[in-house]
Amino acid sequence: PTAFLDVRDLKVHFATEDGLVKSVDGISFKLERGQTLGIVGESGSGKSVTSLSLMGLHRRAGKSGRGGATMSGEIWLDGDELVHADPAEVRRLRGQKVAMVFQDPLSSLHPYYKVGDQIAEAYRVHNKASKSEAHKRAIEMLDRVGIPQPAQRAADFPHQFSGGMRQRAMIAMALVCNPQLLIADEPTTALDVTVQAQILDLMRDLQQEFNSALIVITHDLGVVAELADDIMVMYAGKAVEYGPAKTVFTDPEDPYTWGLLGSMPRLDRAVKERLLPIPGNPPSMINVPSGCAFHPRCPFAPRNHGRCETEVPELLPVDSRHLVRCHLPIAERRQIFNEEIRPH
Ligand code: SF4
Ligand code: MG
Repeated sequence: PTAFLDVRDLKVHFATEDGLVKSVDGISFKLERGQTLGIVGESGSGKSVTSLSLMGLHRRAGKSGRGGATMSGEIWLDGDELVHADPAEVRRLRGQKVAMVFQDPLSSLHPYYKVGDQIAEAYRVHNKASKSEAHKRAIEMLDRVGIPQPAQRAADFPHQFSGGMRQRAMIAMALVCNPQLLIADEPTTALDVTVQAQILDLMRDLQQEFNSALIVITHDLGVVAELADDIMVMYAGKAVEYGPAKTVFTDPEDPYTWGLLGSMPRLDRAVKERLLPIPGNPPSMINVPSGCAFHPRCPFAPRNHGRCETEVPELLPVDSRHLVRCHLPIAERRQIFNEEIRPH
């Protein structure tokens, strides 16, 4: 491994009655501690499945290939390989090193236990600590994530918290064991715009303070444009664009990324009208379109004389750190972006 997290050609396939679903179909990325990767895509793109693989949360298929996920490739986390490790070992490493923040705090916070007790218990699972030490630590974490009067609020139940406060509490629970890798799946989707911005600021501050690697999974390119160091855009289980966040956000070269820019809820109207919204729906993962999976929705496919329909484009470097998967010649897609799409 050449990085703290080094994912190589990861594939996660599920055998279903209707056929093989290649939820993740050969993705690679690297991430260091203190850095943030944004994984962006629509639902079904494979972004959540990728994160669950890093958590070792998939039930594995039996020898018949049924009943769970078949994984291949390599996931190196701090020198340990997870794809081929035995499940107990993966659970042990995950518990020590990886934590996850989900979209819906109510699905991870138990409704019948006090918030402070839940954070304290999460701490005690991986640390030798007395109940009162763990409780003290829970209150410190609630304070750290910006819950006012943390000692009193620790005795509240989740439903007594606002949506934003529940998200803060869940971040406190994820960070209480000081994970080296934090994965946040749509961490702000359910929140209003002001609270979203506060939560993202908080996550950035905490990531710096804890020097953890952070993966933020989202359908909204705007959420990771400023937060992330690198961005990987996924479509139908594959990376279609991967590079420094600034480059992917300001000089994207893949037509699907252009479409994502056009779907950003926060862009102002005038800018949005010049951008392309993405027509149609994400593909069924049972029947992924031939060639470039995006071709039925891509307004530029006709320019490539049938190639987009028949040939899967490779993810190729356009410079040392920027990779794009598209048959359009580089000069042509730069010209299209600059003349027709770039927000002025
Ligand atoms: Fe569009 Fe073809 Fe590029 Fe795919 S390969 S994004 S269909 S132009
Ligand atoms: Mg998801």
